Amino acid sequence: MYEIKLKAPAKINLSLDVLNKRDDGYHNVEMVMQQITIYDEIFLKKIERGIVLTTNCSFLPTDVSNIAYKAADYMLNKYGINGGVYIDIKKNIPVAAGLAGGSSDAAGVIKGINSLFDLNLSIEEMMELGTPIGADVPFCILGDGAFAEGIGEKLTRIRGLRRGWIVLSKPNICISTAEAYANLDLRDIKDIPNTKALLNALERDNLYDIANNLCNVFERGIFRRYPIVKSIKEKMLEYGAIGSLMSGSGPSVYGIFKDYSKAKSAYEKLKLIYNQTFLVRSYNGRQ
Ligand code: ATP
Repeated sequence: MYEIKLKAPAKINLSLDVLNKRDDGYHNVEMVMQQITIYDEIFLKKIERGIVLTTNCSFLPTDVSNIAYKAADYMLNKYGINGGVYIDIKKNIPVAAGLAGGSSDAAGVIKGINSLFDLNLSIEEMMELGTPIGADVPFCILGDGAFAEGIGEKLTRIRGLRRGWIVLSKPNICISTAEAYANLDLRDIKDIPNTKALLNALERDNLYDIANNLCNVFERGIFRRYPIVKSIKEKMLEYGAIGSLMSGSGPSVYGIFKDYSKAKSAYEKLKLIYNQTFLVRSYNGRQ
């Protein structure tokens, strides 16, 4: 194989709980994550040597500080690959949005290099390779829906979201994950996810129970500091979402809609206010 094209889908959190802070500074978390049909498009091609990265996103780095470049560099070195790779990333996933866009690009590059250079690595081996690159990379390699523990790297495949429509909006603000953690007071958390109930609702494929159990411990603090994020959630519910949640450490907010017509009308209204608004579904690796 000489070149390959891959889809790198975004993820949303159906739940996000922070359990405690570890001695090494990381936090133990519990998260239910689901891929959705917003993708970056990754094109990989063999070249004689080195790594060349291009992207349509003018403000993203194209050197080793791009996580996709880092993943390629790591793989070429680890497997002593004789040759290089050209990577082009067409960015559709909003950046720094709580949607794991960078991690998904890195996961796509790991999968792509595995195919391009006939490394024959299993999904589990690729997930292990992805762990030092970024905490969400293993999930992006596994795909679909998963329950994450530890710092996010201990993953169990679950029955993912299979119904409904998702409207997602990202306001024009940036929140770094570090900032969200710095402002998280574990003693101040009021709404704690009922992860068991959520997993059970997914297993039963009950969209209302899924929607009723969406919960993210970062919401409270982020809503306080950035009222615009809270107002998107309020609009989602006002426009007919049966549940709505901020994804990751924000600022993207999504709503789950039972019917396409309500989702479409909410999408059209929100798109007028927030340029980065999408009407999508969950992604199970087949679309
Ligand atoms: P997460 O949900 O994992 O916290 P995120 O969606 O909030 O991720 P990303 O879009 O992955 O955030 O980007 C976070 C930062 O990483 C950005 O500030 C960006 O400059 C940097 N970055 C490096 N490589 C990439 C990439 N390929 N795509 C997007 N961002 C990248």
